[in-house]
Amino acid sequence: MNKKIIAIDQGTTSSRAVLFDHEGVLIDHEQREFKQFFPNDGWVEHDPEEIWSSVFFVTDTLIKRHNLKSSDIASIGITNQRETTLVWNKKTGKAIYPAIVWQDRRTSEFCNVLRNPELEKMVQDKTGLLIDPYFSASKLAWILDNVEGARESAERGDLLFGTVDSFLVWKLTGGLEHKTDASNASRTMLFNIKENIWDSELLDLFKIPKSMLPEVCDNVHYYGTTDSFGGSIGIGGMAGDQQAALIGQGCFNKGDIKSTYGTGCFVILNTGKDFLKSKNRLLSTIAYRINGEITYGMEGSIFVAGSAIQWLRDGLKFFKSANETEALVEQANLDSRVIVVPALTGLGAPHWDPEARGAIFGLTRDSGVADITRATLESIIYQTKDLLEAMRQDGAEIKKLKIDGGMVVNSWFNQELANVLNIKTYRPKVIETTAVGAAYLAGISAGIYPDLKSVAKVWKSDKEFIPSTTNKKKADQKYLSWQEAVKKTLT
Ligand code: ADP
Repeated sequence: MNKKIIAIDQGTTSSRAVLFDHEGVLIDHEQREFKQFFPNDGWVEHDPEEIWSSVFFVTDTLIKRHNLKSSDIASIGITNQRETTLVWNKKTGKAIYPAIVWQDRRTSEFCNVLRNPELEKMVQDKTGLLIDPYFSASKLAWILDNVEGARESAERGDLLFGTVDSFLVWKLTGGLEHKTDASNASRTMLFNIKENIWDSELLDLFKIPKSMLPEVCDNVHYYGTTDSFGGSIGIGGMAGDQQAALIGQGCFNKGDIKSTYGTGCFVILNTGKDFLKSKNRLLSTIAYRINGEITYGMEGSIFVAGSAIQWLRDGLKFFKSANETEALVEQANLDSRVIVVPALTGLGAPHWDPEARGAIFGLTRDSGVADITRATLESIIYQTKDLLEAMRQDGAEIKKLKIDGGMVVNSWFNQELANVLNIKTYRPKVIETTAVGAAYLAGISAGIYPDLKSVAKVWKSDKEFIPSTTNKKKADQKYLSWQEAVKKTLT
């Protein structure tokens, strides 16, 4: 016994493999960055072969480094960047076009044309989503309409569609399995999350042949066997990265909520068995489906969070490492009224304005690097507050927040977040919650954990941030200025 679990975490900028022991303790990980392609204004692509080769490399390296035999590994769990769209030929195994990444805005115009009140309502009622280039459907339609011969091949049944999870399962199983999980399917804008089926009305709307679509499975499910790493290993669990983070944070009860701060920021509230339709432009989504039973989530997606810090580092050369920001903000002038709106790739929830662009307001002669850095970190906090307020208006009661992702190593950020939101925030011991979530799912599948309840007991808090109200008046004023600033950037 005491078998290990491997979580494959295929993210937007890198692929990771993470090794856990049978008690969910993280033993080691391997990571590889891969290339981002920006072939046109607002376009973002990945090379499908590089997605696969980076996943293979990190998993193989980790297995070899620990001298693991396939029999030492109980199961593999997969978590992935969501919505990113791939189409490949099932005979040759080759993708017919690069992966179109979730951040890609090339279908803005197409979505604008579709966006009328009647269709918006139909799409929201069925999928919980808003019509936006973010989701897979318009990206898939774009490939079929723009790659020569694609539509004819698809109609002949030669082409397969998948988000990154399906593509990886297909590669890992040597082309035997074409499957996705309910959480990833719920981000395509083609899946009816009430009825649990690919929706024929939506398939007609986007002109997608049904034969291209993967089978939609539970998050805990035997997806198949991989022989890619020397022996046979089962793939036992799968979830999109943000849903995996919700699971990794042990948010299994209605009302539990987490916020992940990586490239973007994604808040998900567990809404239990209820598909709550937001009146405030938040998304409803499948949090997870286990034993055929759906648990729903309400989600707020912010496209730019940590990537704004990367922009300060790489674009503006303010500092060499993101770690320096924590000390830097202490040098900011507390009376500074600088407001940064980081709409570098448009604004997500609750505004959904793909054409909005970033701006800096309130600059004075003495504004400096520290003030702009502080205002950038604050902007991510204010965006979180906007989401939580929208959730409250939709009826949610939010008393505490679990936080994770690469940014939460920054304790200044976490404390200020607690202050501005005026609720306690909790950082877990392992902040790699996406990988933890995938490992939990695979662990349940392999019989290591009996169920989600037992997994919740494994979750441990590292630090609690208690809100301070010392500068509340000033903070409230600044939040009002933020709201004014956002209005000015909307198109
Ligand atoms: P992803 O999984 O989306 O690639 P991660 O969860 O690895 O992202 O988080 C990386 C992000 O966190 C980067 O965008 C980086 O700018 C930001 N980041 C890392 N360390 C800090 C820090 N100390 N303060 C603020 N932001 C940070």
